[in-house]
Amino acid sequence: MTEVTFAQLEPMPDDWQRALAVVAHPDDIEYGCAAAIATWTDAGREVGYVLATRGEAGIDTLEPAEAGPIREREQRASAAVVGVSTVEFLDHQDGVIEYGTALRRDITAAIRRHRPELVVTLNHRETWGETFWNAPDHVAVGRAVLDAAGDAGNRWIFPELTEQGLEPWNGVRWVAVAGSSMPTHAVDATVGRERAVRSRLEHRTYLESLTDEDPEAYVRSFLPGDARQSGKRFGNRPAVTFELFPR
Ligand SMILES: [Zn+2]
Repeated sequence: MTEVTFAQLEPMPDDWQRALAVVAHPDDIEYGCAAAIATWTDAGREVGYVLATRGEAGIDTLEPAEAGPIREREQRASAAVVGVSTVEFLDHQDGVIEYGTALRRDITAAIRRHRPELVVTLNHRETWGETFWNAPDHVAVGRAVLDAAGDAGNRWIFPELTEQGLEPWNGVRWVAVAGSSMPTHAVDATVGRERAVRSRLEHRTYLESLTDEDPEAYVRSFLPGDARQSGKRFGNRPAVTFELFPR
C-alpha cells in the first residue's frame, strides 16, 4: 500500500504582540481556533474579538430580538475562558452580510482601533473542502478581512475614518485564516485544547439548538486538532491549522 504523504505545516510566527480575530458570528472563533487563542494569551499576548453580527438568526426557535442578546452574552463568556476581554460587535445583519465597502470600512476601523500585527479570521473560501459548502457570511467577512488588512494602512481609503481620528495602521503583518482546507501553518493545540472545549461550551443556548446530544460530547466530536491529517502534518501533535497570508 502506498503511504499518502502531506506537506508539513510550518509553525505560526510568534514574533508579535497583538492579534485581532474578526469573524461573522458568535461561535466562529470557538469552532475554528480557540485553542490557538488560549495558547497565545497564555504567552502574554493581547487578543481582541470583533464580530460582524450577534448571530441573531442562528437559533431556529428564538426570535432574533431574543437570540441576539443571549448570543452576545455567551460570546463574551466564551472569550473570557481563553483570556480575551475585548469583544466588539459591528451590527451587520446575521445571514445576509454583504461583502462591500460598508463591511470593509467597519473592519478597517476595527483594525485601526486595535492596531494588530496578526489578524485572524474564519475560512473565506467557497467550501470547507470538497463539496462542503461554506456559509455566505463567512465568505463575505473573510474576504473583507483580507482586504481591510491593506485598507487599514492607506489614509486615502476611507478618509472619513482618518477624520474621526483613526490614523492609518500599516502594521498588519499576517492574516491567518482558520478552517481553511488549504492550511500552511499550525499552532500546537496540546495545552489550549481543554480550554477551547470549555470556551465553546459557553455557547450553551446555541449548542442546545444544534444537537440533542450532550453538548460536551458534541463539542468534543468536532474538536480541531483531533483531525489526524493535521496532526500528521505537524509532528503528530494536535494542531489548530491556518492558511497564512503574509503582507
Ligand atoms: Zn459562523
